[in-house]
Amino acid sequence: MKIAVLSGDGIGPEVTGEALRVLDALGLPGLTVFEGDVGGIAYKRHGQPLPPETLTMAREADAVLFGAVGDPACDGLERALRPEQAILGLRKELELFANLRPAKVFPGLEHLSPLKGELASSLDLLIVRELTGDVYFGEKGERTASDGSREGWDMMRYSETEVARIARVAFRAARASASDGQGRVTNVDKANVLETSQVWRDTVREAAGSHPDIALDHMYVDNAAMQIISNPARFSVILTGNLFGDILSDLASAAVGSIGLLASASVGERRTAHGVFGLYEPIHGSAPDIAGTGKANPMASILSAAMMLRHSFALDDAAARIENAVARALADGARGRDLGGDAGTRAIGDAVIERL
Ligand code: ATP
Ligand code: MG
Repeated sequence: MKIAVLSGDGIGPEVTGEALRVLDALGLPGLTVFEGDVGGIAYKRHGQPLPPETLTMAREADAVLFGAVGDPACDGLERALRPEQAILGLRKELELFANLRPAKVFPGLEHLSPLKGELASSLDLLIVRELTGDVYFGEKGERTASDGSREGWDMMRYSETEVARIARVAFRAARASASDGQGRVTNVDKANVLETSQVWRDTVREAAGSHPDIALDHMYVDNAAMQIISNPARFSVILTGNLFGDILSDLASAAVGSIGLLASASVGERRTAHGVFGLYEPIHGSAPDIAGTGKANPMASILSAAMMLRHSFALDDAAARIENAVARALADGARGRDLGGDAGTRAIGDAVIERL
């Protein structure tokens, strides 16, 4: 089991360091860690944010544990050299077309969610977002309209092939999370007005045929946005495209209310000896404002490592041990500044390790 650790900039190395300590404490046999440069630090050392040797290291690993990239000192650089390009380049080169974002309110942290009472505590869903298609990657253009004003356009497009592969990821994720009952996927689109969504919906329906154990339903994106807030309990796994997923992921994250607890995975179809190749990272950025102060909450990175164990190494028990330890550490008061507490990076790491 090979992990490429690309911890990057700002608080990236600090939080990733705690995730590595947690993995180490689990004492998993056969785990090897390689460390590579990415982002602003890679630019400083190698003149580019994603050096070829880093990419090779990532390719040769079974999973990538990613920190964060971003460095205010790089702001003036041309776009291709900016740290943020590294993560886009990694996703593209490694063909990671699916983004998995769990959004869950941990017991005892309901007060941080803008949702009230029961609504907050029932929020526990996973968004599976397509990453490589949609309006972001269709033809774009600008011209002068007939009335002389500027006019811009972006083509929204999805092929059956693209939809079928993201649907498989969602059904697999639903099966994995269905230990306590039937797996459920809610497909979110805008099939009442978009041609793209009709192809999308038909393809998802067809893919569901090979997953009779999973319940599938469909919802328009406007309704989904409303119900994530008004009735979060009705969702388990949400399957959606790039644009709707972009918006719904942030909506769901805001509904959780704690940036330092949100993990994510980007996966493709490439299998490794143990599972599916993936890149795992906290959703927060490099947080230059608190970098180096020892105040960053490492739990999002620790939870990303748990996702890695589950998806890339099929170590579900070890993943659950980490997640339970994080939940208990939180319940026992190990809370970072982002959660209204004052526990530092290292102390939070220790609190999780003690509860493994
Ligand atoms: P980037 O440019 O890399 O995205 P950013 O500062 O724009 O960095 P975030 O890193 O997401 O964006 O940070 C947003 C705010 O949340 C910052 O004030 C940061 O200090 C805080 N923050 C982010 N992550 C954490 C964390 N793990 N623990 C504590 N505070 C955090
Ligand atoms: Mg940011």
